[in-house]
Amino acid sequence: MVSVLSPQMVLERHFGFREFLGGQERIIQSVLDGDDVLVVLPTGGGKSLCYQLPAQLLEGITVVVSPLIALMKDQVDSLAAKGIPATFINSSLTDSELEDRIARMRRGEFRLVYIAPERFKSSRFVSALAPLSIALLAIDEAHCISQWGHDFRPDYLRLKHALQEIGQPPVIALTATATPEVRTDIITQLALGQAGRRPPLTFVSGFARHNLSFAVTPVRNNREKLERMLAVIQSGKTGIVYCSTRKKVERQTEELRARGVHCMAYHGGMTEEQRTDAQTQFMTGTVPVAVATNAFGMGIDRADVRFILHFDIPGSVEAYYQEAGRAGRDGEPAYCELLFNYADIRTQEFFVEGANPTRTIIADTHKTLADICALGPLQQSISTIAKSVIGSPNEMAVASALHLLERAGFIRRNYTPGGRTYTTELIQPLKPLDSLDIDYERLDAKRAQSEQKLQRIIDYAGCSECRQFYILNYFGDTEAQDHRFCGRCDHCLARLVGHKGVRLPTAEETIIIQKALSCVGRLRGRFGRGRITQTLIGSRDKEVLDTGLDQQSTYGLLAEEGADFVWSLIDALITAQCIAVSADKYPTVSLTPLGYAVARGQETVPLAIPARRPASNPSIRSDKSGKKAPPSVPDDFPKTGQIATVFDRLKEWRRRKAAAMGGVPAFVIYSDKTLKALALAQPRTQADLLMIRGIGSAKAQEYGKATLDIIHQSTRPVTKKTGYSRVRPSAEGRKIR
Ligand code: ADP
Ligand code: ZN
Repeated sequence: MVSVLSPQMVLERHFGFREFLGGQERIIQSVLDGDDVLVVLPTGGGKSLCYQLPAQLLEGITVVVSPLIALMKDQVDSLAAKGIPATFINSSLTDSELEDRIARMRRGEFRLVYIAPERFKSSRFVSALAPLSIALLAIDEAHCISQWGHDFRPDYLRLKHALQEIGQPPVIALTATATPEVRTDIITQLALGQAGRRPPLTFVSGFARHNLSFAVTPVRNNREKLERMLAVIQSGKTGIVYCSTRKKVERQTEELRARGVHCMAYHGGMTEEQRTDAQTQFMTGTVPVAVATNAFGMGIDRADVRFILHFDIPGSVEAYYQEAGRAGRDGEPAYCELLFNYADIRTQEFFVEGANPTRTIIADTHKTLADICALGPLQQSISTIAKSVIGSPNEMAVASALHLLERAGFIRRNYTPGGRTYTTELIQPLKPLDSLDIDYERLDAKRAQSEQKLQRIIDYAGCSECRQFYILNYFGDTEAQDHRFCGRCDHCLARLVGHKGVRLPTAEETIIIQKALSCVGRLRGRFGRGRITQTLIGSRDKEVLDTGLDQQSTYGLLAEEGADFVWSLIDALITAQCIAVSADKYPTVSLTPLGYAVARGQETVPLAIPARRPASNPSIRSDKSGKKAPPSVPDDFPKTGQIATVFDRLKEWRRRKAAAMGGVPAFVIYSDKTLKALALAQPRTQADLLMIRGIGSAKAQEYGKATLDIIHQSTRPVTKKTGYSRVRPSAEGRKIR
């Protein structure tokens, strides 16, 4: 039975608000309908109303579980002021007070009762609740139930059981933590939507930050990073530069100081005093720029931060958004930029490996310790121990393995006063590896999860949609669909007519654009920007001829426009989101769905069309401004990476084949030049194969199948033994490199 009052009336009468905020109305309706609901709203998003208002309308008590005991009394008082009778139960009450409150609950004197989570430890208490008519269980700070979260509280795990005891009332779980896996965890741990109810409804909203502009700048080295950093500091003045390691923090602080920038460093390796000092300097505005690791931020509430620059890629979208979100707390425009260099991913991978050692590393560390500590306690640093472990694995991973082995009772570690290191000692009787209580499955799951999170932030760097949309979509924010175009991020700006020369193309320019796009489309994400430019201008470059690009129907289509124009046009098409660039070491380009539509003449997009001038010599010219890379092709064939792997495998196959053919010289099969061309072009079909210089129909017949098989096997999208792909699928759904 629901009261005759409508939610709107209660909102006005009791809460004094005219309208609902964001998703409040829909959430409240679902609660009144008896659904299990998970609400994810940022702090200040108006979560309390989502259960306080229904409490007025539902028949029975609304029990609120909240770990914020200090706030309970305030909440109760403020509800009383609104004419809503409420009380709280936590460990500050005496036994008689507790009994009195339960008795009053029984008499129906309260609409809401706040209860501290640890109360659910007592089965007597839970049984005392059972006979009461509980209409709704509201679980505040619900992320505390998730072991993936940052604030896990074991008491929360008891709630599922308590729920059964009190007759499975509908649940509303609330949190500001928007991580997708925390959400899933809350639903599972609380068994939401079970016991014959409809599937739980999840509402995520309010995470958009309308005053922040996001951007990503691809950089190739630290020099470019430094230039960008200086430019951002110069225009933003007050802000934070986040680096991934302590060493980088120190290095960049020096670099900036050497250039006259007033800045301070902050990282976990500094003494407590140094850190407090640095933090105060930043907070009071004495120093305008902080260079810091992610250790900096907790409690930073300087409101006028105008920029957040990420010098390196962080480990996840949530880490990025949390750090970037420190900009513009005052509501004024602020700028968030990420500098993206593919090589930086390695640092994050190292952190992931380090925090979650593999079984092999744990086993190897176990074995090594049994050896090196056999003669008694050993005083050695972790880095020395790591060197003794087979294959000298990641030092951080060995440290984690030591920690696990210590917890499992295999070793004891003692800090030696005066000495700098720990003493490591075996605990007798020695426990064999398989008797140790180590949760490998959890370690594996955590590693896989961290890897996925890393992949998603890499995808952010390479995405072609609105940056704010990407982030909201990642969090599952229901408002994401209304925010496909924030109008402030680098991608949105690039599509705004009038911004930096962005305009609609003329009919003649449209044809040029279609030619360029069709070349990118035909090469199906196998080549980078440079090679596309060469193909379009009809370059006679050796690599172009060797890979058979001169056989393409789009070869030379834009010869009259010249390399500079074509290069810049492709740039503009990337910015306009018609062409996607892979986030690889050797970035390749492919068409986006929008690019296809433009190529077919179904769509027209505004873009910054470069100035056209007739080319006197249609070959690659270098760009004097030095800003962008000239579209020349490096002479040196890659020594590592996927192309190199394909080349090595083909070469190995050629060696065996030559031997099997009675020791004929290898070049009789394919020349080195042909092998390189194969590795670069990575043909998929017999027809593709014939485009490679040095392969005629006879060779295609004789070696084609073996060649294509090797290329296929070496270029499957799963590039890592971890089982997930670092390679973004191209618009056509496959990417060769
Ligand atoms: P959260 O728990 O999500 O951090 P609160 O429930 O404390 O947020 O609400 C944040 C602020 O928003 C409070 O001051 C609250 O009174 C106000 N608020 C909530 N709902 C509304 C509304 N519909 N209209 C106006 N203000 C609201
Ligand atoms: Zn945008």
